[in-house]
Amino acid sequence: MSVIKADAYGHGAITAAEALKESDAFAVARLKEGVFLRQKGVEHPIVLLEGVNTEQDFITASEYQLSPVIHLHSQIQLLQTLTLPKPLAFNWLMVDSGMHRLGIRPEQVEMALTLLAESSNISGEVGLMSHFANSDLDGDPRNQKQLAHMLALKHKTSLPLCLANSAAVICLAESHQQWVRPGLMLYGVSPFSDKSGTELGLKPVMTLKTQLIAVYDLEVGDQVGYGGEWTAEVPTRIGVASIGYGDGYSRHLSNKAEVIIRGIKAPVIGRVSMDTICINLNHVEQAETGDDVIVWGTANLAVEQLATLAETIPYELVTVLCQRVNKEVINGES
Ligand SMILES: *Cc1c(COP(=O)(O)O)cnc(C)c1O
Repeated sequence: MSVIKADAYGHGAITAAEALKESDAFAVARLKEGVFLRQKGVEHPIVLLEGVNTEQDFITASEYQLSPVIHLHSQIQLLQTLTLPKPLAFNWLMVDSGMHRLGIRPEQVEMALTLLAESSNISGEVGLMSHFANSDLDGDPRNQKQLAHMLALKHKTSLPLCLANSAAVICLAESHQQWVRPGLMLYGVSPFSDKSGTELGLKPVMTLKTQLIAVYDLEVGDQVGYGGEWTAEVPTRIGVASIGYGDGYSRHLSNKAEVIIRGIKAPVIGRVSMDTICINLNHVEQAETGDDVIVWGTANLAVEQLATLAETIPYELVTVLCQRVNKEVINGES
């Protein structure tokens, strides 16, 4: 089950759905994302990980043959009272095995399954889903505890399990069971803060690129950008690249990140603006206006490294890319 929520982690939901068409199913978070995939012709089973809470949303899910995850008793009650245009298929009950985010408590699962089995709005068997809170911490005993809850339920009910996100796919083989549910790793990015994608054999799908829109020289003492947070201590050639926080390039990368120009790494200097960043070109002497600027997506300039510099996770950097950023599919077979 390939997770393509949040516009496939910023990569483009339709592009990702086509590239991942051999998946047995897709998962998104919200109804709107599922409807969008259907309107674009995606025919796979589509799970809505957040579920839905109103009669109208259940009806829409039914009309578009989407599969909202059941994680609340009130959702089961709603299904007992209404009659959907078509029964929901490919159903999943989310179990709270320890994360305490969404899910029915393990001791209430059998009752919930009984009620769902009686509902004419549910067709076929209901699988059991759960989510790990700490699967990115390899060897953390809390993962085994969550897994034990789910294996016990599988033993009691003989239903299929769907547990593993990317980190568990990579590090927790016992969690694989009948279905896996990776997101981030499909895009070639590591879910671990202490292991790079390259170390895991992953290859970044996304290369984020822009161009230099100006190149000129600064004198000693010249300050760069809002707040003048960078001052030239030697004569400096500066380049201005067309990307900023208005594109999703984090302002927390101000004065910290690097980019690649003509194969050479060059530091981002001064604050990130809405539309631009400034770059120290003293070691890229040939650089000129119009040159490509690689912002992330190579083995030596991975989004994981930039996430560490920005004190966040790569999930955030890739998902917040804005509509203004052009997405071009290269080597895509679709
Ligand atoms: C986002 C999400 C996933 C995918 O997680 P990754 O860490 O990106 O692999 C799986 N399951 C649920 C419930 C999610 O919300």
